[in-house]
Amino acid sequence: MKIAVLGAGAMGSVFGARLAKGGADVTLLDVNDAHLTAINEGGLQVDLDEGAEVISLPALRPEAFKGPVDLVLLFTKTFHTEAALRAIAPQIGAAHVLSLQNGIGNAERLQEHLPAAQILLGMTMTPAEFIAPGKVASHGPAATAFYSLDGTDRPILHQMAEALRHGGIEAVIDPQIQAAIWEKAAFNCAMNALCALTDGTPGAIGVSKPARALASEVAREAISVANALTIPADLTKVEALMSKACAHHLMHEPSMLQDRKAGRRTEIDALNGAVATQGERLGLQVPVNRTLASLVHLFETAVPFRASHLSKS
Ligand code: NAD
Repeated sequence: MKIAVLGAGAMGSVFGARLAKGGADVTLLDVNDAHLTAINEGGLQVDLDEGAEVISLPALRPEAFKGPVDLVLLFTKTFHTEAALRAIAPQIGAAHVLSLQNGIGNAERLQEHLPAAQILLGMTMTPAEFIAPGKVASHGPAATAFYSLDGTDRPILHQMAEALRHGGIEAVIDPQIQAAIWEKAAFNCAMNALCALTDGTPGAIGVSKPARALASEVAREAISVANALTIPADLTKVEALMSKACAHHLMHEPSMLQDRKAGRRTEIDALNGAVATQGERLGLQVPVNRTLASLVHLFETAVPFRASHLSKS
């Protein structure tokens, strides 16, 4: 199978490495020149559960990509989808594009560039970390689920599942993928935003009754929006995920906290912001998600006016 990974940061590099290990013909596409150079000169170093290894595979800027491919695996941050797809639009042709990005609204973003019949959507629990240019890590077993946007069972779903399994990724073809996407988004809305705003971790939320109750309320609002859209997302599954994270991922720093600390843009608009906007459009009460989205935006945009910044300058 010929696969282009569009957005080869932490996740794209880990998935690209695993797909290549499993026998797929993989090209990584990214705009981080230092990462591309390191991969082309010394291979992609991956630290996985089964050990560290170096995988040789081509890494290019998107505009240099020639195609054709069977599938484009989209792993940019949600706010880079538009630019990334635009850069390779002529090369996509009839290929399917699979988004395993977090959050809500990925289908809509892809539909601006592609017919629904070429879009595959999913979610993954696989964690990945960008260590340095040319080097990524991923530890812990996790499932990846996906399906077609238009609800058709297509051969490409089975081909991709096989390619992922050969590379050691537990792949599930899930016709109820919208429910899985919303359940993961509800989890991310609760844990990521609270941790990002408080320099917290799931462990900290777990030992604070008010914080744990707040997390539950964030998730409840998100699932109420999904259910109003007739998506059968299940709050009990989200609660179980949150309890597991609070008990076992004690010191994990969610990506939104890492992004906030590094002064990078967060994916808040695709998480709490999207839940709040969709909920408000449906006439639902979503005040906690709206508040968290506004507070994370405040962190992103008010840097020059932050007290710590002023006292230093
Ligand atoms: P990342 O920032 O490490 O990687 C994104 C990559 O996209 C970067 O290398 C960046 O250079 C590249 N990029 C930006 N603009 C581009 C463009 N125009 N064309 C091509 N590439 C471009 O992010 P990540 O952690 O790999 O996350 C990717 C997605 O996966 C996000 O939606 C995230 O929420 C989701 N996700 C992440 C994890 C995780 O553990 N990291 C787990 C599950 C889901």
